[in-house]
Amino acid sequence: MFNLTFEFKLKPTATQVAVFEDWLEQCRKVYNYALRERKDWYNSRKCQINFCSLHSEYIIPAEVPRPTYSSQCKALTAYRKTSPALQQVNAQVLQQTLRRLEKAFVSMWEQNHGFPRFKKKGTFRSFVFPQLGTVFHQGNRFKLPIIGPIKFWQSRPIPDGAIAKQARVVKRSSGWYIMLTLQWEASIPDIIPHGNPVGIDVGLTNFIATSDGLLIKRSRFFGDAERKLKLLQQRVSRKKIGSNTWKKAQKKVAFLHEYVANCRKDWHRKLSHHICDDAGMVFVEDLNLIGLSGAMLGKQCLDAGFGQFFNILEQTCFKRGVYFQKVNAKKTSQICPNCLNETGKKELSERVHSCGHCGYTTDRDVAAAQVVLIRGLAAVGHAVKMLAEGKFIGIPVKQESPRL
Ligand SMILES: [Zn+2]
Repeated sequence: MFNLTFEFKLKPTATQVAVFEDWLEQCRKVYNYALRERKDWYNSRKCQINFCSLHSEYIIPAEVPRPTYSSQCKALTAYRKTSPALQQVNAQVLQQTLRRLEKAFVSMWEQNHGFPRFKKKGTFRSFVFPQLGTVFHQGNRFKLPIIGPIKFWQSRPIPDGAIAKQARVVKRSSGWYIMLTLQWEASIPDIIPHGNPVGIDVGLTNFIATSDGLLIKRSRFFGDAERKLKLLQQRVSRKKIGSNTWKKAQKKVAFLHEYVANCRKDWHRKLSHHICDDAGMVFVEDLNLIGLSGAMLGKQCLDAGFGQFFNILEQTCFKRGVYFQKVNAKKTSQICPNCLNETGKKELSERVHSCGHCGYTTDRDVAAAQVVLIRGLAAVGHAVKMLAEGKFIGIPVKQESPRL
């Protein structure tokens, strides 16, 4: 069983847009209400030992259980019967909003994410249908519950024989989109390690370096757009807040952000396919991305989009039958790939790896990628001996432009 998500642009009519907007707003209200309920419960359970607050204290009786997804769902169903505004919205869509809140809490508990926040007007941008009928599309129209048939740009064919697991309707500055998750019953054998192994090191000077000696420069999407963005934001700040001209100027800023994000994603996809063209196994470092983006070069790290690139690379490998694995990223730039001795820390400006023990010299990023490759092969159980001395000597380093 496996899932694939397809994205299409919708062509909603004016009435349908109004319905979407209304649903988003109702979902936002449900989300905020449920979050408030949970927050109040937490606040009532913690108190200072030595004093009470001067303003107010949260008092919820001791026997009231913690609000959970199921208890909130029950409350929602009961309340929906009395609220005409909520009855306009599909019940499952509202429940999915509560599930989203539950997920936010779980990722706070388990992955150390931040406390879920209230959503301001306009910041709630998507809702989910967890179920679609067996015939969910016909020609160039999707069939959505309650909303009915809705036109879309059929940019690619929708494969047959799949079950529609869910559909997410997303609002972007350029319009409305649908993300359709399809599921196939077919079982796919796990990809076994085979073919040409490639280790990949990511960085800011070179976006990636491979163990085959390929260096690809970083494409500076945001960097290039930054001047334009500054200009547009200046225009926004000169307008009266809330006026029509302000809204128009704001929209241009949003458009530019979306454009930059699209360019980056496109480039990541092309680069992933480029890597998969001549690889049977791909190894990458397991980086601590949150730690990196808070550091000195955080803006550049975020612009490069390493996290997104790794996700896309993993998907591309899956689609093309290439084995993918993450390996420990510790000290990849301090070890010589040729003799495996530690060479000590390099400054960022030091671009060449030159080993004091065996004399192996190459680009520093290529050396790091080769260390990643050795670790990856060790992890999948290939004899590392086969890679011992001399294997990497003579690999030419070639720089490729970021325009693929
Ligand atoms: Zn060495």
